[in-house]
Amino acid sequence: MKPRLGLVGLGNIGGAMCRHLLKAGYEVTVYDVSPEAISRLENTSAEPVEELKILAARADVVLLSLPNSDIVEGVVLGEGGLVESFSAGKVLIDTSSSRPSSTRRIAGTLAKMGVEMLDAPVSGGVLRAREGKLAVMVGGERPVYERCRGILQAFGERIFYVGGHGAGHLVKSLNNLLSAITLASAAEAAILAGKSGIPLDVFIDVINASNGRSYSTEVKFPRYILDRSFDDGFSLGLMNKDLGIALDAAAEQELPMPIGSAVSRIWNSAAARGFAEKDHTAIYAFLEDLLRELPVLEENSQRSEDG
Ligand code: NAD
Repeated sequence: MKPRLGLVGLGNIGGAMCRHLLKAGYEVTVYDVSPEAISRLENTSAEPVEELKILAARADVVLLSLPNSDIVEGVVLGEGGLVESFSAGKVLIDTSSSRPSSTRRIAGTLAKMGVEMLDAPVSGGVLRAREGKLAVMVGGERPVYERCRGILQAFGERIFYVGGHGAGHLVKSLNNLLSAITLASAAEAAILAGKSGIPLDVFIDVINASNGRSYSTEVKFPRYILDRSFDDGFSLGLMNKDLGIALDAAAEQELPMPIGSAVSRIWNSAAARGFAEKDHTAIYAFLEDLLRELPVLEENSQRSEDG
């Protein structure tokens, strides 16, 4: 018998995840605060409910795909939250990119009721979510992971068990730190190439045949930046949140992370200057403006004098 599932959060990732869970034969009860997000699943057998506690009572396993830890905490522990109808033996799987310290706190509270928790954030973006080919990184008790692996396989192609509660969320934030670094640094290099008269598509072709390539240059530039559509489906605000999570984790370990901190400042100022709701690939447009405004850094001029 397949467990009955609940899914809270039907946005860019949760909506695609839901379709793959249904395709794999699961019964899925769904909840979202946005009627529009629910209506996108109207042509499926997903069953919407009006209250979280109905979902928590009906489902054996509840998955979350929510923007951030404050919202996750509200949905799980807040008034009218899942906790009000959870009972021993149920499992909560948080696939959102959340804060490890918050995840550990929620797992601790649920454990007292006999409810298990896994953090199982995903990577691959909307493209791979639609294909059911996400990478999934799982934290929590290994036996719970073994029990829930089948559910994760409905939308995940490669699934990794990485450690205790919060470990999946930590690894996810570090993945996005790397992704943010490659995207911002490739944008900076491309802006210089363009300013020097090299056509951008040629520049990106060269990099993709060379050692400077990355997922950012191989997928994001050709699909979302060269045509200036900036529509990968992952907001800049969410990327900025993930960088904060990674740097807070570094601070907890007293590790300075100078490269991550420098790049994070760029994303943070983009978010603060009206780019939070835009797609994260619009960091390219933000950098175009920023580099026009910034005086040439002293360090750069010194390097050119040094030859
Ligand atoms: P999204 O904003 O498209 O979707 C979030 C959904 O949560 C929305 O439908 C929203 O209405 C709903 N929601 C917000 N508050 C709620 C509440 N209190 N109760 C119920 N529903 C609520 O976000 P997304 O891009 O789908 O991302 C979801 C999570 O997955 C985030 O943590 C994000 O960082 C992570 N993620 C996103 C991507 C991506 O490419 N978009 C990739 C990997 C991971």
